[in-house]
Amino acid sequence: MEFYSHMIDGEEVASLSGATFSSFDPHTHQDWAEIALGDGSDADRAVTAARRAFDTGPWPRMGAAERGRILHRLADLIEAHADDLGMADTRDMGKPITQSRGNDVPRTAANFRFFADHARLSTSEAYPMDTGHHAYTRYGPAGVVAAIAPWNFPMMLESWKVAPALAWGNTVVLKPAEDTPVSATLIARLALEAGMPPGVFNVVHGYGPDSAGQALTENPAVDRITFTGESGTGRVIAAAGARNLTPVSLELGGKGANLVFADADLDNAVEWSIRAVFTNSGQVCLAGSRLYVQREIYDEFLARFVAAADAMVVGDPKDEATQIGPLASAEHHAKVAGYVDTITEQGGTLRTGGLGEGWTVRPTVITGMDHKARHAREEIFGPVVVVIPFSTEAEAVELANDTTYGLNAMLFTENLHRAHRVSAALRAGTVWVNCFFVRDLRAPFGGAGDSGIGREGGTFSREFFTEPKAVVMQIDEAADSR
Ligand code: NAD
Repeated sequence: MEFYSHMIDGEEVASLSGATFSSFDPHTHQDWAEIALGDGSDADRAVTAARRAFDTGPWPRMGAAERGRILHRLADLIEAHADDLGMADTRDMGKPITQSRGNDVPRTAANFRFFADHARLSTSEAYPMDTGHHAYTRYGPAGVVAAIAPWNFPMMLESWKVAPALAWGNTVVLKPAEDTPVSATLIARLALEAGMPPGVFNVVHGYGPDSAGQALTENPAVDRITFTGESGTGRVIAAAGARNLTPVSLELGGKGANLVFADADLDNAVEWSIRAVFTNSGQVCLAGSRLYVQREIYDEFLARFVAAADAMVVGDPKDEATQIGPLASAEHHAKVAGYVDTITEQGGTLRTGGLGEGWTVRPTVITGMDHKARHAREEIFGPVVVVIPFSTEAEAVELANDTTYGLNAMLFTENLHRAHRVSAALRAGTVWVNCFFVRDLRAPFGGAGDSGIGREGGTFSREFFTEPKAVVMQIDEAADSR
């Protein structure tokens, strides 16, 4: 088994305690990598290195263009190592290799490229004053950023945080999820190779509570905490941030509604609705796991949707033909299996799917269940969808908005007016019309309610990862100094 250590101050180091843990391959059910198990002292060591690199090192001082060159070199190296990186996430959490290598690697590289260019090309506001003064905004780096990531899109979501933080001149300590540690160490190695100075991008491995994760959120030398994960964890992290008055950005859970209107292009709606809920075996915060279909087309849509779900290939995630791999861990499989086992008890009918071999769950379609049932309200985070009919547009919007989450929604219609009207009425951070998962990195990303606090992406990331400063200058000596 290969050993993956922390990356602190440009060095691959073991934990101070010498402790390790293993990463488990959810398909082979074997340990495949040994990882340094960090605790509070390792997290503090990483923050100290990041603090020093920020306070005295070249990174915040070199300017966005030079940082951008290094971040582009890192993106080049990520693309060149697509096989290793893709396989690391596949072995860590069972994501089909075509998705980890074919989607997550390019999107990781794209995150570094986008934020490198965004920071370099960014403009700031000027405020001409009629008092003989001139004011403008300077966007300076915030300082040390703690980034805490989940396991479902390991390298891609890590880069979504790390790339803007670095591009704006911050230094970073990343704690990847304990189920998916390997790709973070690989990318930290590539960052050094790309020319990033030591201490700028640190990785510390470990768990959350009473471990490296919690220590990062409590360290007063941290200037920003960016977190993606469960809503319950988000509440704990928000409280930890509040104690030090550290700004927190939270990207949390979801229970995406997908509305298919009778005037939709049915082929398109079926294709995207399948992707919306079964991509990454449903382990997606954005999953369209509540599927509302207008009554006029309900039977036809359902027949096509079930047939498409049935046709999906479930199996070994290292096999290029596989579309659905195992769920990420024994614990997570047990949670999803708990929902599958209680479909009838909750009043539903299983139309297709159910538990598969090992830790797989076949694409599972449920009908007949009330919108208030647990399966239709709680984030299952597996390939399980509840299909519910609706009659009117107003009813569809009411059902979609009847949730504590507010991350995203999808709608399928060929009616332009309806598309805009319903998009405006939905309580969600992102609404996809006639598509899913398409991103413009300039657009805001995040959610309302239990789905989080704040937005990231483009200037929204800039707001969070910088400390905006107003500079007011006298430009006319005879200025009125009121
Ligand atoms: P999780 O909350 O269990 O863990 C996420 C990370 O937080 C891990 O690195 C974990 O070690 C760490 N952590 C846990 N407790 C902590 C604590 N007290 N202090 C500091 N760190 C702590 O989430 P998960 O199971 O890894 O991920 C799945 C969840 O993430 C789902 O709810 C999903 O919807 C959500 N998610 C949201 C988005 C989004 O963009 N909104 C994207 C992906 C996943």
